Amino acid sequence: MTQTDIIIIGAGPGGYRAAEYSAKNGLKVVIFEADRMGGTCLNVGCIPTKSFARNAEIIQTLKDSEAFGLNDLEYQFDFHKVIQRKDEVISSLRSGIETLLSHPNITLVKAEAQFRDAHTVTAEGENYTAPHIIVATGSVPKTLRLEQPVRRRVLDSSDLLSLDHLPQSLCIIGAGVIGMEFASIFNAFGTQVTVVEFLKECLPMLDSDIAKRLRKSLEKQGVTFHLQSRVTAITDEGVVFTDKKGKVVTVEAEEVLMAVGRAPRVFDHFNRAGFDYSERTGVAVDEHLQTTQPHIYAIGDANGRQMLAHAAEMQAIHAVNQIIGKSDDIRFDIMPSAIFTLPEAACVGLSEDRCKEQGIDHVCKKSFWRANGKALAMNESEGMLKLIASPQGEILGCHAYGSHSADLIQEVSALMCRHTTVEQLAHIIHIHPTLSEILQSAAET
Ligand code: NAD
Repeated sequence: MTQTDIIIIGAGPGGYRAAEYSAKNGLKVVIFEADRMGGTCLNVGCIPTKSFARNAEIIQTLKDSEAFGLNDLEYQFDFHKVIQRKDEVISSLRSGIETLLSHPNITLVKAEAQFRDAHTVTAEGENYTAPHIIVATGSVPKTLRLEQPVRRRVLDSSDLLSLDHLPQSLCIIGAGVIGMEFASIFNAFGTQVTVVEFLKECLPMLDSDIAKRLRKSLEKQGVTFHLQSRVTAITDEGVVFTDKKGKVVTVEAEEVLMAVGRAPRVFDHFNRAGFDYSERTGVAVDEHLQTTQPHIYAIGDANGRQMLAHAAEMQAIHAVNQIIGKSDDIRFDIMPSAIFTLPEAACVGLSEDRCKEQGIDHVCKKSFWRANGKALAMNESEGMLKLIASPQGEILGCHAYGSHSADLIQEVSALMCRHTTVEQLAHIIHIHPTLSEILQSAAET
């Protein structure tokens, strides 16, 4: 039996961050990873899609080349080079994680760990025990339950990232974060993209006005959307759905991507540890990420709370702080997020829709990329930002789409953590000319 201070199951952003932070704080760590280091985020999520998104951004800029005085440009698109660059980015970051985990306090076991009981896990016939265990097992793509069996190939986001050829046509089921990012990327690559979404609008967590503008922007770029449409079958020809008028429609496509959400990754062996979990909602945790067995924590996608890499990392810090008895003031209620489409979208806190639904008194202030000097100089005039505040002026949220909106939203997150008012924001000097002035302009209205 190997004894240690802390056992961590899973080396994604939650797990490796927990290991690094525990080791820095003097704990001896054993971390298990059955697959590739870095989890979904590094291998088949955030990083590869952002690598593709950069290619897409360059292609879009080239399409506007005449605006920059580059006439009659010609280029050949080499998809294999796109894949090669993505793989290089991943492998460079993966070796960074391996270096991080080479700390003398950390033992990395590249094998699948299973609970034997509430204090012991087993991997490759060896038993390990610790007073504290962190479950960071991540998530898996969800699939639709359809009446007819599906006989053709249907891709999930990992499969789409490992295609070795560019499909001529792609039908994406789901206009959530994954669906929209891939729609934007593959459309820029030259694939004919159709998106089928069950709800009235794409990206339900985003302010509906902004989501609509972003969708219209992608439509203008060539993506076809079918909203309020229920997929009923996936056949050899493509995706069959009932549209909003009740008409049965088939979208023919070379490839089909299923992007209808992700589910926490849970295992039957969790029963042996005796904490509560379900396949749908993941491992049940309290506000300190403790499971119903208080010495076992669950962080990241596995607890189904906020399926974002940065949420997983901060949950890791909070769980380890609990273990070492250190208090922190991490605000999990202020969780910024971004959608890396062209143009980008991002949000934090309340939207105007949510305020109306919940009867929250608010003021809404808007500003536009087209009125910003830097945006025009960059030829990025499309975008809108909505700043939501209480009647007393405290900032409650901000939703935006437009070039680099994630960076603007990050500033709002920092201000919200410090209970900043709109008036105080208006008085913070912003560098001219920058896109951040869009935020200041909203505050000034
Ligand atoms: P999602 O929950 O964001 O979106 C799924 C979409 O599928 C929803 O709009 C939903 O209405 C739609 N849908 C569900 N059933 C459908 C049906 N039968 N027919 C048509 N549409 C249907 O899920 P996702 O896009 O798969 O992303 C999964 C997770 O990964 C999310 O939690 C997301 O936050 C995370 N993620 C984040 C980022 C980022 O932060 N940039 C990027 C990728 C993924």
